Formats: sequence, C-alpha cells, structure tokens
Amino acid sequence: MSNWESNIRKVIPYTPGEQPDAKDMIKLNTNENPYPPSPKVTALLKSLDSDELRLYPDPKVQVLVDALAKRYEVKPSQVFVGVGSDDVLAMCYLTFFNSGKPILFPDITYSFYDVWANLYNIPFKDLPLDENLCIVKEDYYQDNGGVIFPNPNAPTGVETSLADIEDIVAHNPDVICIVDEAYIDFGCESAIPLIEKYDNLIVVQTFSKSRSMAGSRIGFAIGNERLIKYLNDVKYSFNSYTIDRVSMKLGAAAVEDEAYFQETNKKIIATRERTKERLEALGFEMPDSKSNFLFISHPKINAKKLLAALRERNIYVRYFDKPRIDNMLRVTIGTDEQMDCFLAFIKEYMEKENIC
Ligand SMILES: *Cc1c(COP(=O)(O)O)cnc(C)c1O
Repeated sequence: MSNWESNIRKVIPYTPGEQPDAKDMIKLNTNENPYPPSPKVTALLKSLDSDELRLYPDPKVQVLVDALAKRYEVKPSQVFVGVGSDDVLAMCYLTFFNSGKPILFPDITYSFYDVWANLYNIPFKDLPLDENLCIVKEDYYQDNGGVIFPNPNAPTGVETSLADIEDIVAHNPDVICIVDEAYIDFGCESAIPLIEKYDNLIVVQTFSKSRSMAGSRIGFAIGNERLIKYLNDVKYSFNSYTIDRVSMKLGAAAVEDEAYFQETNKKIIATRERTKERLEALGFEMPDSKSNFLFISHPKINAKKLLAALRERNIYVRYFDKPRIDNMLRVTIGTDEQMDCFLAFIKEYMEKENIC
C-alpha cells in the first residue's frame, strides 16, 4: 500500500452559491447585480478582436490600475488588482498573516475567511457579533495576528461606522487590518481615506456587485505603497498573468462610467428600501441593510421550508446552515419587477400556510 494520502493537504472548501441555469429563474442567491454592466463596457466588448486571446495580458494590469487610481484619488502604486476580491483576499492572507498568532474576524461573516485560514494553516478566532448583529469593536483590541471583516458585513448587511473601524485599526498598529468592502457602494462610507493615516490598513473592493461584472472576476485592494508592493511580490511568485486582456479593458471602461455606476447603485438602494418596507409589513424581521441584499427572518416561518418552496418556483435565495442564522434567508436585491414576483410568492405562501 502506498502512503501518499498522508502527505496531502486536506481542506474543507468554501461552498459557493448555486449557479442554476433555469430559463425563467429569479436569481437572488449570490448578490449579483440585476442590471447589465455600463453600456460603455458592452460597446467595448463588441469591438474586441480575437488577438486579445492570443497574446499574454499585461502582468501589471496597468490600464485598470491607472483607472482605479484616478477614480479613488490614490497613486497607481497604491492599487493591487486580482481575479475577483476572493483572489485579492487570498493573496492578502498569504502576504500579511504570518505571525503565528490568531487572526480575528466576526463569527457571522463571509464564510471564506475561515476557509483561507485553514488552507494556509493560520490560526483564527471568530468573535461573536452582538444581539443586533453588530461588531463589538472592543473585542478586536486583544493581541492578534491580523484583522479582517467586511463593511457592511455579509450576510447581515449591517454597517460598522467609520469611527469604529478607525478605532479597530488604531488599536492594532502591529498587524494588518483588512476591510472587505464588497458592498460599500450600496450606502456605506469607504475606509479608503484612512489609508493615509494608518499604514496597517488595506481596503478591498470588487467589480462583482456594484459594477455588475461578477463574470469578469475583478477585485482590487487599495493601501499604502509598501503593502501593495508586498502583495505584488507574492502575486508574481504565484501567477504573473492574473487578469486577462479582455477583463482588464472592460474593467477600465466600467470605472470610467461613473454616471452609470451611480445610477444603478441608486436604483438598487431604492428597491432595497421598498422591499424591506413590504417584507416588514408581512411580519418579517431584518437588520438595516447597507448592501444589495436583505437578511430576513419571520417568527412564524421556517426558513428552510420557505427556501424549498421558493425554489420550486424557480426563485433562488441563499440559506446558511449555521448557528444563530439557521432560520434566516439572504435575499439579493433584484429589479423592482423581480422583487414584486418574490413578494407576491411570499404573500401566496403565507396565505397557503395560514400565517398572518
Ligand atoms: C462577493 C464577496 C466577495 C468576493 O467577491 P469576488 O466576486 O471574488 O470579487 C468578497 N467578500 C465578500 C464579503 C463578498 O460578499
């Protein structure tokens, strides 16, 4: 008998949301944007030549780095681009979390954080959110090997104030603090301005949600030049050509269309508030969301049962079978029309089940 099995790195992988391909589905399960990317992206895509596929891409991703630097008013040397923010965050773990001390993140949060910690053998502590699903900043003042949390948090949608974030960063001068701003454009204040004041802060964002480009896999980090240099050193030790030529160009075009970006974000926020109001009128409970999803529960509804009933109708939402949140559903904000269908089904379900 050979013994290779004992030398294999065994991990419990992250489970991504389903990507069904049903015809008339209403897909509210992975926080994609219901609106198409900017028309400028669409026009550019149509004009591209297949030579884009023949040649290697620019390893520096300069066109996109420059567009982001201009948009966020930083130097190009303060911008790192990766294959979705998942790639950026994985690179951050590898680059920054090497002290051997546990890194800190909330108990209810993006479920990739503990997966990367386990993958890289980084110890971690998950710190309980309070009963209102808020981060307790004082918990992050203990000795640690690094800090990471999303703002707003996922899957709760709850915002941490910039003042609280600054306190956490200021209390941790000897470790890197990562703020994962995947949903920042739906109503929270970004921590990017704080990078000038704190050299241990790095902010990560994505094109997957607010820029309607989940399929292009673009994420980025903004921080001081030293942090970005260290990240690039690790990237070049791993894979020089991360962003493909097409994504790089389309990404830059998306960043340049600020008006379209503002307009779609506004629409999603309006639909979110309207959906929240209607769900609350039906007895649903949810924290205030600053993201493009609502995290809902109902005292008289079993979330798993509702999930299954929605699915029968080709309406997909996300469920997490985890302590504290196992009777909640995360519902992505779609178009007004999609949310009306979702709400109509909920009403019908409640009548059928005699819930009022
Ligand atoms: C969606 C999401 C990401 C990852 O997005 P990418 O598609 O990899 O850019 C990262 N963090 C949080 C909290 C998310 O919800």
